[in-house]
Amino acid sequence: MYDHLSILLVDDDAVDRMAVRRALRTAGIPSTVEEATDRDSALSALACTTFDVVLLDYRLPGSDGLTVLREMRDRGFSTPIIMLTGQGDEQLAVEMLRAGATDYLPKGMVSPDVLSQSISRALRVHRAERLAAQAEQALRVAAERQQFLAEASQYFVESLDLQTILDRLVELATRKLADGCAVDMLGEDGMITRVAVRVRDGDDQGREALLRATAAQSPQAPFGPPQVIESGQPLLYSAVDNVQDGEPEHGFLQPFVAACVRSMMVVPLRVRGQTLGAMTLISDASGRQYGEDDLMLAEDLAHRAAIALDNARLYREAQEAVRMRDAFLSVAAHELKTPLTTLYGNVQLLQRRAQREGNVSERDQRTLRIVFEQAGRLNRMITALLDLSRLQMGQFTIQKAPVDVVALTQRVVDELLPSLDRHTVTLAGELDPLFVMGDELRLEQVLQNLIQNGVKYSPDGGNVTVTIERTEQGALIAVSDAGIGIPQNSIPNLFRRFFRASNVQEHRISGIGVGLYVVHEIVTLHDGTISVESTEGVGTTFTVFLPFGDSDELHETVGAGTGGDAGA
Ligand code: ADP
Repeated sequence: MYDHLSILLVDDDAVDRMAVRRALRTAGIPSTVEEATDRDSALSALACTTFDVVLLDYRLPGSDGLTVLREMRDRGFSTPIIMLTGQGDEQLAVEMLRAGATDYLPKGMVSPDVLSQSISRALRVHRAERLAAQAEQALRVAAERQQFLAEASQYFVESLDLQTILDRLVELATRKLADGCAVDMLGEDGMITRVAVRVRDGDDQGREALLRATAAQSPQAPFGPPQVIESGQPLLYSAVDNVQDGEPEHGFLQPFVAACVRSMMVVPLRVRGQTLGAMTLISDASGRQYGEDDLMLAEDLAHRAAIALDNARLYREAQEAVRMRDAFLSVAAHELKTPLTTLYGNVQLLQRRAQREGNVSERDQRTLRIVFEQAGRLNRMITALLDLSRLQMGQFTIQKAPVDVVALTQRVVDELLPSLDRHTVTLAGELDPLFVMGDELRLEQVLQNLIQNGVKYSPDGGNVTVTIERTEQGALIAVSDAGIGIPQNSIPNLFRRFFRASNVQEHRISGIGVGLYVVHEIVTLHDGTISVESTEGVGTTFTVFLPFGDSDELHETVGAGTGGDAGA
């Protein structure tokens, strides 16, 4: 029932000690009993030997057992202690249990049975307490690690710069896991480069030199980081000097052994099935000996860094792709613009000459009209792309002067009408001059775009209404159509460049999704706003608000005759 027990018996009375020994023997408890007769000898015995149980008399010469019990617990001894008391005193018993006694027995009752039961209970309680403490400790360590890893992830993703992430990785590794740490990355050329080194405390030049000197240069070097990068599997050398001469990695580990490195791990930086590099961690001064738990923590840390590195790389690639797209668009639009302008101008010329001379057949006139319309379409698209690239480069500016938005709208509508056959455009609302401070050409572009969209997105024909309204602060221009409408989920993205609503495909209406972006930018440059209301299958209304702007400027320039139109 018992393993052999080592018992410390603290009692100054030789007869009582004999009685206890006899009880132990009779109870058949296999044990070695060491005796102490006072506080000092008891404490020094405890300091030298690990006991399974202490039997402690309450009455000791010079001090009472309760004080000695407290002292034992204060010094961190967790051995089960059974107090042997004189009389049955409940109050004292409670006090002893509070002070850390595992059990207590009135001396008069120390029979073999009672002693055996008390010892076995004390051992059981002690074992349960030890297990609970171990579980608690394991939980605390696990929670601490989880928190460390969560904070690490957060720390990594705060940056999109590769070197910053690597520096943070070695910083965290030396803070939590290692006396020294290095990271090697696999380059696109297949070479492995040591990209970050850090040692704890920062002043240990020997350790840093060692880490730099053992930098892996080539994937052909078979051990350490190259091996981990090649295999994607971690390495753990719990005791580097345990690797014997003759074993393959002995040579690789020698410099570490010579520098008193005790333990070492190399873990892969893996993400999406790829190994980007490896992290080497060493322990020396701390005396830490790495085990499986440390390896798991290091792997997890490296994996989180790899995710952040991968994100940073993807972000950089995306940025580069956007930059290249913008550069391409800008060059393409510029290059296309010149021949197109020539083409457009010459078709116009040809059309006018045909009208004047009247010698072109009806069929050829139709062909000319189609060429003219298509060249016009191309021209608008290229102008939009050029505007886009100017906006990207911050080269898009506006020149403000008083503009009569009623007259401007009328002109835009008049110019558009001849090219329409299945659509009509009507003007409503304010018909008196209404001046705002703005760039006439750019505002013309806004109106053209919105009205042309109203026509384009009403494939079955119909009317587009432009309603102008004067408000306290400026002009409201609403362009409404009864066309295909815009799905609600597309509306929030409508003014983003290259965005097209999800229903344009089914209606086979072509476009490049740049016009509204440019419109929005122009309106914003005028300190105005643009909003949209739409129901799919019913129609759409875009509403632009243009503020009067600096009213003094407007009054001065427009003069007394039209001053009222400035909304003053
Ligand atoms: P594009 O017409 O070349 O696609 P725009 O930037 O002018 O580009 O418009 C962006 C998107 O907004 C269009 O693709 C379309 O989905 C939607 N849209 C714009 N105006 C209307 C409208 N009047 N009716 C329905 N959808 C519209």
